Amino acid sequence: MAQLSDDCFAFGGPMMSVDEAVAIIAGRVTSVQDVETVPLAAADGRILANGISAPLPLPPFTNSAVDGYAVRSGDLSQAEQSFPVMGRIQAGASAREPIEPGHAVRIFTGAPMPDGADTVFMQEDVRIDEAGRVVLPAGLKPGANVRPAGEDIALGASALAAGQRLRPQDVALAAAFGLTHVDVRRRIRVAVFSTGDELVSPGEPRADPQLFDSNRFMLLAMLARLGCEVSDLGILRDDRASLAQGLTQVAGRHDLILTTGGVSTGEEDHVKAAVESVGTLVLWRMAIKPGRPVAMGIIGGTPFIGLPGNPVASFVTFIHVVRPTVLALAGAVQPPLVPMPVRAAFSYRKKTARREYVRVTLRKAADGALEATKFPREGAGLLSSLVDTDGLVELGEDITQVEPGQTVGFLGYASLM
Ligand code: AMP
Ligand code: MG
Repeated sequence: MAQLSDDCFAFGGPMMSVDEAVAIIAGRVTSVQDVETVPLAAADGRILANGISAPLPLPPFTNSAVDGYAVRSGDLSQAEQSFPVMGRIQAGASAREPIEPGHAVRIFTGAPMPDGADTVFMQEDVRIDEAGRVVLPAGLKPGANVRPAGEDIALGASALAAGQRLRPQDVALAAAFGLTHVDVRRRIRVAVFSTGDELVSPGEPRADPQLFDSNRFMLLAMLARLGCEVSDLGILRDDRASLAQGLTQVAGRHDLILTTGGVSTGEEDHVKAAVESVGTLVLWRMAIKPGRPVAMGIIGGTPFIGLPGNPVASFVTFIHVVRPTVLALAGAVQPPLVPMPVRAAFSYRKKTARREYVRVTLRKAADGALEATKFPREGAGLLSSLVDTDGLVELGEDITQVEPGQTVGFLGYASLM
């Protein structure tokens, strides 16, 4: 079972930076150990359990990179030459006889090079004379247009690392090695609840002071993209006893319990008290905007994260707290999120010692540069601000001001899931 160390993310400071949060998570989360073997067709997005070394070189044999004529470079002079053509090798055919000195062999892309040949002229660069000989221009480098065995990956080289979240190109590499299955960590199981007396599920009747629960569907979708097996547990009422009961029921059967709403410090925020009554809890006050306190805890041995209820705060804190926790629990190696430099088309002021995320759309400016335009409104409750934008501009703790034209770091939504 995936675990957290007993101090359940205890954090003493008054304010935690995003980097501190990520470091604490990386240091205290132990990943699931169970391994399952899946066919390649089901491997995309899974976490590789064991590293893979090349069981054969790629390409497995030396072959032509183009359609053309194979020759021995030692036969070439500084001037145009014409060689008789002595054979024809297609992709998939074997080169039966070695090339003879002063000859060329008709060859096609992917076909094995005949013994002795080391260079290929592209068919576009040659012509056939009246005698049926191929006329070769001067100046081609020895070795041109040939793909040597192992030039892509050498036999035995480490090709895929344990912890890799498999992408389509990784699956292709496993297939190129002739593997039919790969060993991956089992998916982590995440229980998701929304909390709030004002919420109803889509499909239920909605009275006027109520709103449809949207966060739960956002969280379920983000978790699914991260490869989790999700349990949709609906809405818990703002009542300590029913919250405590709902939470304890799923503990032990999941690797993570995730809630949204009810974790600020208002009178009607009962999640904190409920978790404290059945487990341990600390509030992480993160120096991040948008974002509210995030509750971290352990219930019956299962890690718990309580996200804020405002949709944008929920989204941003998911990216910085839930995402690294989920990937660590799942056993994934996590490359750091690297914001892409883009040009700001907006001005902005902020406090120091806090990281802020600005919702932006990207477009190509007249001079070809990528330009980020800020969504015109800032509320943490505006779902349209996430729907109508392409990603987040990350403004570090030291920045106090952004002016149009300044270079800023952009994180696209696609890269965050
Ligand atoms: P809370 O964190 O519970 O105080 O909620 C903050 C704001 O987010 C309130 O306006 C809630 O109505 C709203 N909210 C809370 N949970 C959800 C949810 N699951 N879907 C949409 N809005 C929510
Ligand atoms: Mg609430």
